[in-house]
Amino acid sequence: MTDCIIVGGGLIGMLSARELKKSGSDVLVLDKGEMGQESSWAGGGILSPLHPWRYSDEVNRLARIGHQQYPEIAAALFEESGIDPEYLRCGMMILDCVEQQQAKDWAKQWSMDLSIIDQRSELQRVLPGLSEGYNQGLWMPEVAQMRNPRLVKAAKGSLRALHIPYKEYAMVEKINVENGKVTGVKVDGQVLHADKVLIAGGAWSAKLLQGYSRVPEIQPVKGQMVLFKGKPGLLNRIILAENRYLIPRKDGRILCGSSIEYSGFDKSTSLPIKQDLIESATSIFPALAALEVEHHWAGLRPGSPQGVPYIGAHSEIEGLYVNAGHFRNGVILGIGSAQRIVEIMVS
Ligand SMILES: Cc1cc2nc3c(=O)[nH]c(=O)nc-3n(C[C@H](O)[C@H](O)[C@H](O)COP(=O)(O)OP(=O)(O)OC[C@H]3O[C@@H](n4cnc5c(N)ncnc54)[C@H](O)[C@@H]3O)c2cc1C
Repeated sequence: MTDCIIVGGGLIGMLSARELKKSGSDVLVLDKGEMGQESSWAGGGILSPLHPWRYSDEVNRLARIGHQQYPEIAAALFEESGIDPEYLRCGMMILDCVEQQQAKDWAKQWSMDLSIIDQRSELQRVLPGLSEGYNQGLWMPEVAQMRNPRLVKAAKGSLRALHIPYKEYAMVEKINVENGKVTGVKVDGQVLHADKVLIAGGAWSAKLLQGYSRVPEIQPVKGQMVLFKGKPGLLNRIILAENRYLIPRKDGRILCGSSIEYSGFDKSTSLPIKQDLIESATSIFPALAALEVEHHWAGLRPGSPQGVPYIGAHSEIEGLYVNAGHFRNGVILGIGSAQRIVEIMVS
């Protein structure tokens, strides 16, 4: 018997497990595949919503926790696992954005550094190599990034170091409920008992709750990305232009993302989207045209209305909790969400 079973070993499940363990609870994490290989692996790792002023105060509050605590959490994960998740404060430039006033108001409300660059020469100084088509930018120097595949590997290593048990290839088929109270889960035909069950199943979270009342409105939203094999120093800032972004990693590789596709649980990639991403990337930063595209992949974001995650107790089933639906922002919101759900679960 475990105090709490977490269904889903993505970033949200793993960060929640660390927080629960810190609070003194026994916890077991279950994943239907290898831990951290779904959306949490596939994402870009930008530590900010793309246009934060478009989000509610609740989302911004969680983002602020991530912004403040990621340097420390990244260092702790590195120390516990021996894997560097590559926290990098590289700044983000949003090109030709017409929402200047909203951006300024947001920066003032959340005490974030943001400036408007409206001279081509200054834009060129901050972003050498930028396409000539752009003349204005919103510069957010405090925005950082993490490297997802390393982040999830480090989080998994941290669970091992903290003696938090997990089981991979353990598909939860059912949440067991008796007399309005959770009793555990059914995994591969076997029953595992727990007083509490936390659903952190990402895009699959609503599926897990099918048949019960108050199923959260979470659905898979596919995002495709391409990776250019660049060299360090070619691009040093995150760039966002309309709905496309470029993220430069420490080793010089550059990601371009991402599509938004409502196509169920289909995770396949497609050539037209690949070509579209490459065209967008090279039209923003022409030097990319000469680079090899090393990789192309897709991930399923846990889409939710307005991108607001579900963090809380199920209103009708005692002992059942949800931490899911982080849509495009699960990395930046992950720490705050994990802390919040654990406050609720142990109160
Ligand atoms: C292309 C792309 C770009 C992104 N960019 C960013 C970004 O720059 N910044 C940012 O903050 N966020 C970004 N995101 C969003 C972020 O990646 C997600 O919000 C976050 O990873 C969600 O984490 P999760 O743990 O909820 O989901 P997941 O990582 O998908 O994990 C859910 C886990 O639950 C498991 N599971 C599901 N069903 C079961 C079951 N029945 N039994 C057992 N296990 C089960 C799955 O196997 C999976 O491992 C991006 C996402 C994508 C796809």
